[in-house]
Amino acid sequence: MAINIEKYSYLLKQLNGKATLVAVSKTKPLEDLQALYDLGHRDFGENYVQELVDKATLLPKDIRWHFLGHLQSNKVKYIAPFVHLIHGVDSLSLLKEIDKQAAKNNRVIDCLLQIHIAKEETKFGFDASELSGSTEFNHWRNVNLVGLMGMASFSNDTNLIRNEFSNLKSLFDANKQSSNKEATDDTVEMKNFHFTILSMGMSGDYEIALEQGSNMVRIGSLLFGERNYKH
Ligand SMILES: *Cc1c(COP(=O)(O)O)cnc(C)c1O
Repeated sequence: MAINIEKYSYLLKQLNGKATLVAVSKTKPLEDLQALYDLGHRDFGENYVQELVDKATLLPKDIRWHFLGHLQSNKVKYIAPFVHLIHGVDSLSLLKEIDKQAAKNNRVIDCLLQIHIAKEETKFGFDASELSGSTEFNHWRNVNLVGLMGMASFSNDTNLIRNEFSNLKSLFDANKQSSNKEATDDTVEMKNFHFTILSMGMSGDYEIALEQGSNMVRIGSLLFGERNYKH
C-alpha cells in the first residue's frame, strides 16, 4: 500500500486532537485516498480544480475537501457546490468571485486568507499590513473568513521558519480578538471575520508550526510519499 500508516498514526498522536490534519493528496491515485478514508480520515486537500472535481465525484460524499494553493477566479464555479474550506484566498477579486459562486449555490463558503510570510518572492497572498483595519473584507454575505494560512520559506534555517510562523500566529491572534468582539459601529467592518483556524505547517516544517500555535497542518509527502513533480 502506498500510504504510510505508521506515519499516519504517529501524526495523529502528535496532533493529539489539537490540530486538524489535512491529507494533501494532489497527484495521488484514488486508491491512496480510499485507503486513508478507510482508516477513518475525512479531510483531504487538493491543488488542482479538475483533479479535485474528478476525485470528489468518485470518492465518498462525506469527505471534507480542502482547496490549497492558488485558485483561479474562473474556476471557482466548479468547486463552489461542495468545497469545505478554501485555504488560499490571495486577492479581493478572488474573494468576490467565491462570494458570487457561493450565493449561486445557496452556500456560505469558509475561506482562509493567505498571508505572505516567507522571505521568498511570491506573487500570491496578502501582506500583513493589508489586513488590519481594512474594510475591503466587509462586503460579502456568502463567504466566511475563518482564519489565516501561510507558507514559511523553503529553507533549512529553523529560526527563520519559526519566526515566520510566529509572525503569522501574532497576526491571527490580533484579528481573532477583533472577530470575537460583539459587532459595534467600530468593529462592524470585521463582520466577515470569524477566526478559528490557523493553517500552517507542511511535511517539512509542521513540527515548528505546531510549536508556534498552528491548529491545521497540511501534509502530503509524509503520508503519501514523494510526488512525481513538486508543486
Ligand atoms: C503540496 C502542498 C502541501 C503539502 O506539501 P508536503 O510537503 O508534501 O507536505 C501543503 N500546502 C500546500 C499549499 C501545498 O501546495
